[in-house]
Amino acid sequence: MKKIPFNFLCKYCNQPTSITEHDYKFETIESPDNLANYKFSLEIIKCPNPDCKKTHVNVNVSKTIIVGGRKDFGLVSISTAKKEVFDETIEVLPEYGVILLPSYLPKDIQRDINEANLIKNKSTRASASLLRRALQSMIRDFWKSEIIPGELNSEITQLKSKITDAALYNAMHSLKNIASFAAHPEKDISSIVDIEKSELDQMFKIIHILIKEWYVNKKEREENLKSLNKMASKKKQQSK
Ligand SMILES: [Zn+2]
Repeated sequence: MKKIPFNFLCKYCNQPTSITEHDYKFETIESPDNLANYKFSLEIIKCPNPDCKKTHVNVNVSKTIIVGGRKDFGLVSISTAKKEVFDETIEVLPEYGVILLPSYLPKDIQRDINEANLIKNKSTRASASLLRRALQSMIRDFWKSEIIPGELNSEITQLKSKITDAALYNAMHSLKNIASFAAHPEKDISSIVDIEKSELDQMFKIIHILIKEWYVNKKEREENLKSLNKMASKKKQQSK
């Protein structure tokens, strides 16, 4: 059990918060006789951020064995030393793999990326196809009428003159190439190849770079300009 209040970084909204009694639950569960050395506990933390309010759930299992000797006090014998040999915390919620994505990223894109992340250990190919779809949705959402929708390959190629960063442009093509095996295995049965875990990690990295370049940076610039304009109009009013 943690000492209340404690500082906490929410894994859903990424906001640093302070957890009070109101948002914290901790229960230990009595061990069955045959597992007397074990301790089981459940910890529930609710994010106090009013825009989030999401719940974190952790289950802890620990095993303690007695290492030291025993001291006899007449009829009573008490162990004098203990040693924790096993202490494992399992994060139940947020579900394994939830990634922090900006809330202003379109919901369907968020869902594809989160699902891709959830299944990445079970099927790299399924995960890669979802990332491929997320890439295409991001291109269409961000570049809107500046590109003619079509095959992903053509959409990326149309960006060649618009993206100044050649490495990023090539990375998008790589992402598409890796994922194409996953997305269209029916086109050529012999081309079904497994996608390596390291390749999938690279794909996630490219997606994150694009989110930063296209969405986060744009949002930051907008906010900065907004506050600058606010300051300027305040000044103007003051000088009247
Ligand atoms: Zn939160």
